[in-house]
Amino acid sequence: MNVLETFGLGVRYGQTWAVSDCTLAIPEGRIVALAGSNGAGKTTLLHCAVGLTEATCGTVGLLGDLPAGSLDALERIAFVAQDAPLYRHLSVNEMVEVAANLNRRFDRPFASARLRALDIPVKRRVGKLSGGQQAQLALTLALARHPHLLMLDEPLARLDPVARHDVMALVMTMAAEEGVSVVFSSHVVSELERVADYLVLMAQGRLQLVGPIEDILAEHTVLNGPADEAERVGEHLCVVHAEKAARRVQLLVRHDRPIETPIGWEVDAPSLDELVLAYLRDPSLVGRSGPVAVAATAAGELAQ
Ligand code: ATP
Repeated sequence: MNVLETFGLGVRYGQTWAVSDCTLAIPEGRIVALAGSNGAGKTTLLHCAVGLTEATCGTVGLLGDLPAGSLDALERIAFVAQDAPLYRHLSVNEMVEVAANLNRRFDRPFASARLRALDIPVKRRVGKLSGGQQAQLALTLALARHPHLLMLDEPLARLDPVARHDVMALVMTMAAEEGVSVVFSSHVVSELERVADYLVLMAQGRLQLVGPIEDILAEHTVLNGPADEAERVGEHLCVVHAEKAARRVQLLVRHDRPIETPIGWEVDAPSLDELVLAYLRDPSLVGRSGPVAVAATAAGELAQ
């Protein structure tokens, strides 16, 4: 089953296409890094998935074929928005009550235990909590629903390093123990690198890379060699990015089958961070995306 599937999805605001021509299929059980620069369309894509934004064209399906925004879908997904919207005038306890009344699956003991462990004063008004505490509260309310799909828009932005680590560890545990599929959006891929196993990379509203991180990394190689040979070596390769330093050059190359190492050159595996940075530098670059990536991923999943 795919937890999130879009076909030809587009969202236009006036003259701007916030998301355009977006076709992807994310299989269940994945921890997805949804990455891209500012304004790439990450929030718009997530808002479409949870029914907060209407698509201008194309379709979005959740958890098999539930329409985005349908009651069936909303019961089984949880979304934590970038600004962690909470009722600021309510106390933490009252906020938990509101959330519990809105969802049949809400697990009060889980929420209370987590708030206690985080030392969040439950009688305090939400508006008086620190930014990090508000983010932790929003995340607790989302997790207490034991969703099948958890979508988090920039969940770490307001957290200190220890809280970031703890949130990641908790989400990983829930993914392992309850099989929750997770989509994290972030600008900072290095933060997601340890936990994510699937990448959706966007630039200017379009998909650049979509697929299992392992496969995407295997399709890219770094070649190091003499700068004056760069043109000759790069001529028959798909060079994503070239970086010169003194008399050496580093080529990030994309390939669908193993490449031969040119004589006198060294090969290296790129890190995810390096690879994402190279794509972000050039929004026109497209690797795996659209129906081809969907078909490739489906074939990969079947083979496993
Ligand atoms: P960031 O990382 O900065 O949060 P993002 O990748 O989440 O960015 P979006 O917020 O989805 O990007 O925005 C994508 C584009 O759509 C941007 O150009 C933004 O200005 C535009 N946009 C988003 N929401 C609206 C709106 N309600 N009205 C008009 N334009 C919008």
